[in-house]
Amino acid sequence: MTTEPEPAADRVAELRENLAAVRARIAAACDRAGRDPAEITLIAVTKTFPASDVRLLAGLGITDVGENRDQEAAPKATACEGLTLRWHFIGQLQVNKCASVVRYCEVVHSVDRSKLVRALASRAEAAGRVVTCLIQVSLDDAVGRGGAVSAQVPDLASEIAAEPSLRLGGVMAVAPLGQPARPAFARLREVAKELQSAHPGASVISAGMSGDLDDAIAEGATHVRVGTALLGGRPGFVR
Ligand SMILES: *Cc1c(COP(=O)(O)O)cnc(C)c1O
Repeated sequence: MTTEPEPAADRVAELRENLAAVRARIAAACDRAGRDPAEITLIAVTKTFPASDVRLLAGLGITDVGENRDQEAAPKATACEGLTLRWHFIGQLQVNKCASVVRYCEVVHSVDRSKLVRALASRAEAAGRVVTCLIQVSLDDAVGRGGAVSAQVPDLASEIAAEPSLRLGGVMAVAPLGQPARPAFARLREVAKELQSAHPGASVISAGMSGDLDDAIAEGATHVRVGTALLGGRPGFVR
């Protein structure tokens, strides 16, 4: 039998150290913003990393994981059955993947069109599940990277709220490329505020990644999605 405990031991030490550093950043950002770190949910974005890393992170206290491709996430979630984890789908989603995604994801962050609302609702209903939906907002109104423009948010929200198998959770965004993140996150916060005036329960603001989680927390993020800072670089991976 060939067992090699060394690499796993190194990996757990590396993840522990990274996690401590990310938690310290969250605490510092909360301190500057006068917020309580308990308000922030850290989602570990495990795309491109193996189920063994998810397992180690769960052992270190991670409760929420994010994935962006169903082909990769579905088998990973199966491999992690038995762990108490909440799975978040954070990538662009095709209608034909909805039946699979609703089986293991409690939250879909990338709802940006009516067709997707209808598909998620019918697949969740068939699976006997209730899925929390976040409306992905495009902060530069650019097409192609996903996200609804802010003017579309009220109608999408009503459509989600009308579905018994869906729960309207709030909003999600990715900072636009080549622009300072903080003003973009400030715009997201305004969109979230308007949404909450019509739907008081829709309190989630999913914003902030490894490079900009501090700015996101300054602008009210409740959920940060962190990959690289926790798990390391993704060689050859293009977002
Ligand atoms: C990959 C990804 C993240 C994590 O990005 P890092 O920069 O590695 O922290 C967050 N959100 C979305 C939508 C992603 O696709």
